[in-house]
Amino acid sequence: MNNSAKNDYPPGLIRADDLEHLLKALGAGGFRIQAPVIRDQSIVIDEIKSAGELPAGWTDEQNRGHYRIKRRSDNAYFGYVVGPYSWKKFLFPPSTAILEAKRTGNGFQVSAAAETVSPTAFFGIRPCDLRALQILDRVLIGSEYRDPIYQKRREQILIVAVNCTEPGGNCFCTSMESGPGAAEGYDIVLTEMIDAGQHNFLAQAGTERGNLILQQVPSEKATSDALKSAAEAVQMAARKISKKIDTADIKEMLYANAEHPRWEDVAKQCLSCANCTLVCPTCFCANIDDYTDLTGETATRVRRWDSCFTLDHSYIHGGSIRSSVRARYRQWLTHKLAAWHDQFGSSGCVGCGRCITWCPSGIDITEEVAAIRSGTVKAKAI
Ligand code: SF4
Ligand code: SF4
Repeated sequence: MNNSAKNDYPPGLIRADDLEHLLKALGAGGFRIQAPVIRDQSIVIDEIKSAGELPAGWTDEQNRGHYRIKRRSDNAYFGYVVGPYSWKKFLFPPSTAILEAKRTGNGFQVSAAAETVSPTAFFGIRPCDLRALQILDRVLIGSEYRDPIYQKRREQILIVAVNCTEPGGNCFCTSMESGPGAAEGYDIVLTEMIDAGQHNFLAQAGTERGNLILQQVPSEKATSDALKSAAEAVQMAARKISKKIDTADIKEMLYANAEHPRWEDVAKQCLSCANCTLVCPTCFCANIDDYTDLTGETATRVRRWDSCFTLDHSYIHGGSIRSSVRARYRQWLTHKLAAWHDQFGSSGCVGCGRCITWCPSGIDITEEVAAIRSGTVKAKAI
């Protein structure tokens, strides 16, 4: 991995019409390009070959339990925020074969499942999702216990980040210090600017390989006015964000409120459907399934996403230790915002707002935290 960013590369200005050259340079560098695209009335992430496949001229409308895409009045390439997919699906796929077993005479031969990975550019990743990748790096490959599947894939990733200049209705990255501007972890970062008939990208390399890619793209030196406009656009986005979580002493506050009546209130609305964990860019719980074919000659061990909202997830010798929805919602929120600090040294939330948008009951993590904080009661620890 070589994603540590240095900001000593000179920023350049790329005309929107020349964005295609950036994609071509990535393709010529041997990268498959995963980027935002429109599928089934949502902006998701899929492989593209040209800039024409990006959702130019589209935006998204997000609220509690609400998502719509609609036309913009301009032709912005990145005039929307994050959709239901996060980038973790490429690095920690929903379902992955990890072992294969073949019958050999009286026994079995067991081997790691074969997997081919290829260099991939994450094109258009937003600052909150970039922070989520850093969190997953810490969790999955940041200690002596490493996930080899994640690591093999992660080593092949080049990051082209895009700063946010228009927040979505459920964004609260400013509370989690993960946006709307990307601080580090990218090879290239773009800021889209549309003003007075001009449509440009401020492009900044963060690594030498990003710099080499940008050198292949027609650009001009960024003027101080262009730098100022780009910075102002990101600052403006930060000012437009209305959702927030007060993170002061949040770990202690949540630990002290394990018996707060709000957990029971939210449990009455929560369907325990697990949508929030599936869309979350940092949730990494998984389960293991073994399958045999009908002949009994081969077996495959598969890792698949699981969720702390399922009853089975906490099944230990004869029963689930979190049998109520109240206990499962409390586990999710308290792990994400409190216990994560103890385990991994940071919050597990980046403020992307996906869990709010895609919750069929419209449950809003920011409101739940505020409600618990406002009626803080002293309670026994979890
Ligand atoms: S909080 Fe919402 S998305 Fe999450 S499990 Fe409950 S109903 Fe589903
Ligand atoms: S908990 Fe919700 S807002 Fe936080 S990172 Fe996960 S999906 Fe995004």
